[in-house]
Amino acid sequence: MFIGFDDTDSKQGMCTTYIAAVLIERLKSYGKVSNPRLIRLNPTIKYKTRGNAAIAISIDTEHQKEVEEITIKTIEDLAELKEENTNPGVVFAPNVPDEIKLFSKRAVKETIRIDEAKKLISKYGLHHKGFKNKRGLIGALAAVGAELDDFTYELITYRYKDQWGSKRNIDRQSVFKADRETYPLTWDTVDLVNKKIVFFPHSGCPVLYGIRGDEVSAIVKANEIVKSEPFERSVLFTTNQGTDSHLISSEISEVKEGCSYILRGKIRDDPHTISGGHVIFSISDGSACIDCAAYEPTKNFRDIVRALLKDDVITAFGSVKNNTINLEKIEVEYLKDKFTYTNPKCPKCDKTMKSSGKGQKYRCKSCKTYSDEKDRFLVERVIEPGLYEVPPVARRHISKPLIREKYEKGKKVHLNR
Ligand code: ATP
Repeated sequence: MFIGFDDTDSKQGMCTTYIAAVLIERLKSYGKVSNPRLIRLNPTIKYKTRGNAAIAISIDTEHQKEVEEITIKTIEDLAELKEENTNPGVVFAPNVPDEIKLFSKRAVKETIRIDEAKKLISKYGLHHKGFKNKRGLIGALAAVGAELDDFTYELITYRYKDQWGSKRNIDRQSVFKADRETYPLTWDTVDLVNKKIVFFPHSGCPVLYGIRGDEVSAIVKANEIVKSEPFERSVLFTTNQGTDSHLISSEISEVKEGCSYILRGKIRDDPHTISGGHVIFSISDGSACIDCAAYEPTKNFRDIVRALLKDDVITAFGSVKNNTINLEKIEVEYLKDKFTYTNPKCPKCDKTMKSSGKGQKYRCKSCKTYSDEKDRFLVERVIEPGLYEVPPVARRHISKPLIREKYEKGKKVHLNR
């Protein structure tokens, strides 16, 4: 039996993954619980609390009724039901029909209406419970249907309840050591350029920290190195974090608000910095054009973007909000030649000629020589072709860090960490 649930937390507290951790323990005596999955859905959804996560677990059981009751009771016990924007949903499925798998894929890339989730739940006769406006049923059904073509892991540790809301007690040096000893099999634990630890949330939720990576043994090793306050429990989730499963390859004319894309285009104007430190430019692919933004939180990634010029060709990766691509990565494909121009040299005496006035020739008074044009010199570009990414401090949960990219031979990858 598959159990999916979502929308149990609020900005004030709780975390859907913590409810999963408690539920796994409560269900232990009713069957074999396995495969907890943390599924990140469309990152642009406006109702999300933080990272638009939903949870699915599976249980091999002969006590279906009790399992359903315990799951609903656990959500009632722990969900932030008093918060206006917390609308939990839970779905139980004996198996996963293809239509629900497809629904799940769409929930990672598009915006889905609650009616659609309800229709599918009723079509397949799935036991379920929706609380309040029942919006959580969308994420719950999507979690049940998630097929992970690409996946990573996250080991999440949870604090004792009396610590929730207080400053997390984690030894900084031990986190950098854990990263040094297990990267690149673990990643996004620290941000070396920005000198930040990025593996814990800053909210009052039950999460102490989470270690992400591609190999369980490396994650376990990192966890052994980290020194912290004691934790109540931990769970290893399989997840679509770090997979780019939200991105759709498209032409610019096809883009829709609230979806995330891979778009190739020529830069239409030199990037410029606007108030707040955000860097903006526009690309065109012949079908249409769209603005791209490297927002202030992307920190040093903006230096790369500032180095681009009109007529360079790039591929942009990111979500469309207010008709602007919020850049997560770029691939620089073609850099046009950049020149500087200086007054020409006199061919006789080699001294720099002077302009005779606006729109007039350059001349050397002593030699009586003339020239119509300035001299042109090729300037080295400060960036080179290849893939560039935002730093870990600005990374979305679902975005694939370049260290995970299986890149084609010869393609240059510029890691930012
Ligand atoms: P956390 O990451 O802290 O668990 P969250 O960011 O996952 O919180 P939720 O509280 O789960 O946010 O709220 C997200 C809401 O949006 C849920 O009700 C979920 O069902 C709904 N939702 C998720 N994906 C989609 C989608 N693609 N289309 C429409 N609604 C969605």
